[in-house]
Amino acid sequence: MSIYETKKGQEYKARVKNFMDKYIYPIEHEVEVFSRTNPSELHPQIEVLKAKAKAEGLWNLFMPVNYGEYSAGLTNVEYAVLAEEMGKILWASEIFNCNAPDTGNMEVFAKYGSDEHKEKYLNPLLNGEIRSAFLMTEPDVASSDARNIQTSIVRDGDEYVINGRKWWSSNVRHPNCQVYIVMGKTDPDASSYQQQSMIVLPAGTPGVTVGRKLATLNAFDNPGCHCEMHLDNVRVPAANLILGEGRGFEIAQGRLGPGRIHHAMRLIGVAQRALDYMCKRANERNAFGKQFSEMGVIRQLVAKSYCEIQKARQLTLMTAYTIDQEGAKAAKDLISALKISVIPLGSKIVDDAMQVFGGMGISNDIPLATMYTHARAMRYADGPEEVHAHQLGRNLLKRALTRPDIDTQYFTP
Ligand SMILES: Cc1cc2nc3c(=O)[nH]c(=O)nc-3n(C[C@H](O)[C@H](O)[C@H](O)COP(=O)(O)OP(=O)(O)OC[C@H]3O[C@@H](n4cnc5c(N)ncnc54)[C@H](O)[C@@H]3O)c2cc1C
Repeated sequence: MSIYETKKGQEYKARVKNFMDKYIYPIEHEVEVFSRTNPSELHPQIEVLKAKAKAEGLWNLFMPVNYGEYSAGLTNVEYAVLAEEMGKILWASEIFNCNAPDTGNMEVFAKYGSDEHKEKYLNPLLNGEIRSAFLMTEPDVASSDARNIQTSIVRDGDEYVINGRKWWSSNVRHPNCQVYIVMGKTDPDASSYQQQSMIVLPAGTPGVTVGRKLATLNAFDNPGCHCEMHLDNVRVPAANLILGEGRGFEIAQGRLGPGRIHHAMRLIGVAQRALDYMCKRANERNAFGKQFSEMGVIRQLVAKSYCEIQKARQLTLMTAYTIDQEGAKAAKDLISALKISVIPLGSKIVDDAMQVFGGMGISNDIPLATMYTHARAMRYADGPEEVHAHQLGRNLLKRALTRPDIDTQYFTP
């Protein structure tokens, strides 16, 4: 147990693990096959298991203690170990109502929503009755720089009119997806960080068209998918604007603080499961007169993967701890460090595990290929690692200019 972990977190971890062993792992393959053969439907067991998890108190565990009445009472550190368990199966977090992008959207409604937003959207989301999507990324601009977002949100009397084209909108085809949070420009002439706003858009509003599905490698993450979205003269009440005009960046910062580390937490679960698979296979197979587990190359791989996972896990816990103790702003550098180092690790270790499995590794006979696809896609979700490296490097260099404690000497003759 790490110094950051608590007894309460360990108890919850045992309960989540037990729930997954009992109900989720046994139907993992069945749900995977179902989602390929019935792309627009939710496997019937999903709602059944959600009700069971809720009844057992394993529900909304992601909502940290500073969210008051909406909190499940766990700290980010306590949630981190649970998210690691859930992350081992792509769809498991939905069973516990802890899946992206709903988690980020619930945080937005809880933190910045009006009473009306809370009643109409937050409560049903917290109850797991509806699902949601977050529409920021656009095909026509480099969206890792959110200042580029072009969708227009224009005030017209008591309404706002939205026009734009989005893509990579996750979850929009989920049968229960009923609301989107849209990012767009309310004032193109304002200073660059004050141009964007966020607005609530109910699914099915006239002018909204859910477009084609985008594949992540060759998968579609059915039934929610990631889609193109066309917004043509979409009208919503002015009260749907969140927080106020020009405050989109402020909300984005709040939305992607803890949410960013959720992906990292889950990817540690992915990496750990891949390492477990790697070890199992190495102990089962032999070639050239040797057990795989006796081969130096395999032992090196296993040992190095273990080291990388441990480093990633400790960094994740340390970041979660800093958020708990000092807030997301104080953890900014650590959050960037996570994105840069932990997120790519998921796909790297799954890739190595696939290699140890030979041809079977890339097939659908084991979950590694699905895990790889998901882990690889996570290198973009919430911003590519290069953007975080760019920002972290810039911040560290700037700070170094004013740090009197830096002890550097030039031994110039
Ligand atoms: C599975 C999946 C789910 C997603 N879900 C959502 C969602 O629900 N809602 C949503 O709005 N978006 C979603 N996205 C989109 C994701 O957030 C964007 O793809 C991401 O922010 C990058 O934007 P972009 O695709 O426009 O890439 P660009 O901004 O065009 O960047 C392309 C590449 O340029 C490089 N780059 C960019 N900036 C820098 C820099 N400063 N320094 C060095 N290199 C740099 C990076 O390598 C980057 O990958 C999802 C994406 C995926 C793959």
